[in-house]
Amino acid sequence: MNIIQLFRNIRPFVRPYRLLVLVTLILTLAGSMMQQVNAIVLDRTVDAINALIGTDFSWGQAARILIIISSVLLGKEILSALISFAQNYFGERMRIFVSRDLSQSVIEKVLTFRMAYFSSDENATGRVQARIDQGVSSLSRTVQNFFIDLLPLFTSALLALILMFVANVYVGLVALSIVPLYFLITIRQAKRLKGWRREMRSYREAKSQGIKNIVDSINVIKSFNREQIEAGKQLDLQNRVTENQIKTRRVSFYFDGLKSFVKQVGTVLVIILTAYLVLIQYPGMTIGKIMYHVMLFTNVIAPITQLQRIFDDVNDALIYAEGFFDILKSDDEVEQTGSYRPETIRGEFELKGVDFTYPNGNQALFGVDMTIHPGKITALVGLSGAGKSTIVNLLDKFYTPQKGTITLDGVELAEYDTRYLRDHIGLVLQKNHIFDGTIEENILYGKPGATHEEVVEAAKKSFIYDQIMSLPKQFDNKASDLSGGQQQRIAIARMFLKNPPIIFLDEPTASLDAVATEQIKNSIEAIKKDRTVIIISHNISQIIDSEMVYALRSGRVEQYGDPDEIYRKGGIYKDIIDASARSLNIEKIAKTINQ
Ligand code: ADP
Repeated sequence: MNIIQLFRNIRPFVRPYRLLVLVTLILTLAGSMMQQVNAIVLDRTVDAINALIGTDFSWGQAARILIIISSVLLGKEILSALISFAQNYFGERMRIFVSRDLSQSVIEKVLTFRMAYFSSDENATGRVQARIDQGVSSLSRTVQNFFIDLLPLFTSALLALILMFVANVYVGLVALSIVPLYFLITIRQAKRLKGWRREMRSYREAKSQGIKNIVDSINVIKSFNREQIEAGKQLDLQNRVTENQIKTRRVSFYFDGLKSFVKQVGTVLVIILTAYLVLIQYPGMTIGKIMYHVMLFTNVIAPITQLQRIFDDVNDALIYAEGFFDILKSDDEVEQTGSYRPETIRGEFELKGVDFTYPNGNQALFGVDMTIHPGKITALVGLSGAGKSTIVNLLDKFYTPQKGTITLDGVELAEYDTRYLRDHIGLVLQKNHIFDGTIEENILYGKPGATHEEVVEAAKKSFIYDQIMSLPKQFDNKASDLSGGQQQRIAIARMFLKNPPIIFLDEPTASLDAVATEQIKNSIEAIKKDRTVIIISHNISQIIDSEMVYALRSGRVEQYGDPDEIYRKGGIYKDIIDASARSLNIEKIAKTINQ
């Protein structure tokens, strides 16, 4: 991305604040004019005082000159302070607003993306977050650089240069000839520091990531007595940081010195030339003009000193803006939806010859044929990685298969309005999905706007009510403080509140204790009536209770039918059930119970 594209991309975000931009620009111009007042006043003062020297002047005359000068300078300073305050304030306001809009629009965009976007390696959570964070901060810094830092300085420099040229073309030319040299040195400095600065940023990220890892795994580190090894890993990083800092400082000091020298050479040249012109009594060149030009020259040079930092920032913005605007503009990632919204959903899914490959190239399903009967419990059985969760992902339209068809009640899934479809599906996953908030808020997620009574009812159905009531703040307790098993029941309560005709349970009891599992089993039993239920479970009792079983191996359906029947036939289903029974040590348990 080049700088023109960068500004073209930022423009829509700045446009709503046109008025702020206008005010900032007017203030900038006014502020830049104020910057030149000192030089003008000094010029007049020197000439006025010079005119008095050697004449028979009265002290009253001198006092009058000094009073005028003091009031102009003080008045200018007050005005200047006000203008600079207003300019900074409005400029900053704009930066804050733009930054808010950038963040919000990218969040809204990301929420519309299809699941495949999130599961590709390139968009792992941390990376998307970094791309957004860095994009927002570097873009808003660009806005700040332009409107708050750069524009006022350059306007002031340009104005000072014009004043120099108007007063005397030759002095103006000398000043102008120094600018490219100064500019060149600054650019060289920025280029030398560029790579190092970037290196430094990655070190900083690594450092904070390192500290995070230590805190996260402190119990493992301590239990293995690996404190020294961990400290050693950090030491290497610290050394690299130190080396980088020293290098950067050394180069910065060198270039700063060089710039200071060039600036001084420029000032000397301006003094020599103006003094010469004064001495030969060149028209318009009075003694006051020496000071006048020196001060203006300082204003001309000032912004270039800042250029190095701004050059760096713009370079960053060019890099980060690309990733950021890629997200904002990737319309092909937006989830597709159809428009079909039937009055009711029966819940009969039909998969025919379904092949599915994840975005990273992992083929998870091969020619899957499957019928999910409405109002029945279907269990998906298979070893880890067999493709069970993938099937649920496809039925919820999180992904689209590359080959084959999936229909619901005879209509292709793609034709369904996605929001409508998901409103009719309840999904409980093996991982807890508790949000930051109270228990009440977490259950309400299943049906925003439900009454407290409905929430209580749902909590009772998922056998979590009594435990909630024994908490100090009951339903107002933070949900994240609950145990894993309790959180899972909150997730199930949420589904009860949503009350959908189709329910997918992906190892819903994986993190529950035996008693809770039994209670959940009972409540699932209660809710299954007239609903389509798909359950993925390693829990033998839940599998055996289902009315239909699909046994998968490596992405293919190997057996299906009535659980008892296919058990008798032998095969993968029998193998899994037998292994589960053995792992439970059922014979010994039976003996113990019968004692
Ligand atoms: P199961 O639910 O039977 O344990 P999954 O459906 O989760 O199996 O996984 C099937 C295959 O797809 C596995 O090889 C797994 O590694 C792969 N897989 C699952 N999710 C993803 C994903 N988001 N991206 C890439 N591959 C995936």
